Amino acid sequence: MRWEGRRESSNIEDRRDDGGDDGGFSAGPGGGYSGGGFGGFPINLGGGGIGTIVVVLIIAWVLGINPLTLLSGQPIGPGPAQVHRQPSAQTPRVSSAEEQRNARFVSVILADTEDRWKTLLPQQAGELVQRAAGMRYQDPTLVMFRGTTRSGCGQAETASGPFYCPADQKVYIDLAFYDELKTRFKAPGDFAQAYVIAHEIGHHIQNMLGILPAFNKARQRMSERDANRASVRVELQADCFAGVWAKAAQNDRDFIDPGDIEQALNAASHIGDDAIQKSIRGYAVPDSFTHGTSEQRVRWFKRGFESGRLGACDSINAQQL
Ligand SMILES: [Zn+2]
Repeated sequence: MRWEGRRESSNIEDRRDDGGDDGGFSAGPGGGYSGGGFGGFPINLGGGGIGTIVVVLIIAWVLGINPLTLLSGQPIGPGPAQVHRQPSAQTPRVSSAEEQRNARFVSVILADTEDRWKTLLPQQAGELVQRAAGMRYQDPTLVMFRGTTRSGCGQAETASGPFYCPADQKVYIDLAFYDELKTRFKAPGDFAQAYVIAHEIGHHIQNMLGILPAFNKARQRMSERDANRASVRVELQADCFAGVWAKAAQNDRDFIDPGDIEQALNAASHIGDDAIQKSIRGYAVPDSFTHGTSEQRVRWFKRGFESGRLGACDSINAQQL
């Protein structure tokens, strides 16, 4: 895929050096996410004694981390006020060349989704939701983070995988996910990486169309089993929307090779059953539930891809998935 030098989106919030961080992850073969110390967060732990512990507990609670991790290594007790300023902002972690490349890639793909949906949505929204006909696309923001960060849907963590938060209309991704995609799920290609973004943007479109809010409301009255079934339909629709985007992008530049779609969606379905299931609390996004089988995901993606129409994506009401 020729993407270098193309427009990068300006709707990126780069929090990778913010220090809401678990100490980093290893990106080597066999990778996974290593935990580690809590570093890089400028906190004034002044006061000592009980005050410090309370502050630490509150910070730990807010950040969703084990207070013992925070406390270890921190001098506690009476005595002069201790100021612990971690050198986070001053010394940002050095990104690997691959991570920098992934960050640029994500920005280019996000920009591409903006350009395509700006044209496609007003033309096609009415095919699915009549009153949405002519709707204008609103660019979402994409947050890149490392380790953990706060979202409008609760704490975001590397292990929860990329997700979309309807409350703040932001897509969250820790780029370490792409290492995981490559090493663990054997989907290293450009298409798989682009699909991840396109799927989350699919949720943004569902949000704009009112489909996601309606689902989240209805879900509260459902049994867990029914809610999971319904969420499969929501997920398959996001895949179909990703297909509609991919069709438009493919028309422009040939970036999908034979087998790419199967590889990416197969990986996605494993991730759906695995990493994303280990989800965080307060995670108001259907990604925390079942995503459908990889066969279903391929089928719905292809519906969008082959037709290029939102109208082909009514998995919400479809008799057969
Ligand atoms: Zn999803």
